[in-house]
Amino acid sequence: MDTIAFIGLGNMGGGMAANHANAGRTVRAFDLSEAALKTAADAGCVASASAAEAVQGADAVITMLPAGRHVLGVYEADILPHAKVGALLVDCSTIDVDSARRVADQAGAAGKGFRAADAPVSGGTAAADAGSLAFMVGCANADFAAVETTLDPMSRVTIHAGDSGAGQAAKICNNMLLGISMIGTCEAFALAERLGLSAERFYDISSQSSGQNWSMTSYCPVEGVGPESPADRNFEGGFATDMMLKDLRLAKDAAISSGAVTPLGGHAEALYALLSEQGLGGKDFSSVIELLAKGTVK
Ligand code: NAD
Repeated sequence: MDTIAFIGLGNMGGGMAANHANAGRTVRAFDLSEAALKTAADAGCVASASAAEAVQGADAVITMLPAGRHVLGVYEADILPHAKVGALLVDCSTIDVDSARRVADQAGAAGKGFRAADAPVSGGTAAADAGSLAFMVGCANADFAAVETTLDPMSRVTIHAGDSGAGQAAKICNNMLLGISMIGTCEAFALAERLGLSAERFYDISSQSSGQNWSMTSYCPVEGVGPESPADRNFEGGFATDMMLKDLRLAKDAAISSGAVTPLGGHAEALYALLSEQGLGGKDFSSVIELLAKGTVK
């Protein structure tokens, strides 16, 4: 796996591509943004003039793009016509399950022996820079070992979720649960405060009782309580509300198309949308506690 094409060098992709270069791989990089391309070149990647040029001759093609329409567009126009026979195609973007399956179907139908995988990530820009992302992969069993090797310079852990689309399914189900559990945790802290129970005491008790969950014990939304978290930094950094909102919308679309019943996912989406409309979409998603603690949400 000597030559990688990397398309999409934004907040996440920039650091991810650099980690391949640091691992000694040749990285043929492309982004529509000249600034992003220059940063990648400074980090040791080879700047390409187009996505089509980047993928030529590459053993593996990695994409890290905003949404399904960007991924489908780049696959149809650049990757499938120009990537070499037998190339491994790995999309690490967070996109809808249907688009992920379409991409894999189109790769199979191209008749060039492509192996395709969806491999969305858990972890933000710090993990992307540090090469410590968690990948959840949808691909054929026979292709997983090659995907794992390809992702290695960017990865803390890589887990095979199932066939095409299963990586995206795992990502949105996990993030829907996270979005809901964070709101539940925030509601409990807001009620405790109204009842005159200190946040510290509630944390001590609930973190050892049946209400315990990751949003409380690893990412507590209350300043000064539990291990350090975005709440201790005025909700700067971390996982932006707008990112959570994107994932909850993907979960809602998937629920509609599959017939699943996810009422709490819908409520969570509405609350994060409210936060975003108030201009707080760039803050960490645990800042939803401010909305709840103020009692402005009925
Ligand atoms: P970003 O907007 O910073 O980067 C996307 C990059 O893609 C941009 O540089 C853009 O210029 C480029 N791009 C768009 N269309 C292109 C095209 N046709 N050809 C080449 N380049 C193109 O986004 P990001 O934060 O890096 O996120 C990327 C993906 O990772 C998204 O799907 C996001 O949901 C997911 N994700 C992000 C985070 C995070 O914390 N930022 C965490 C987990 C997953």
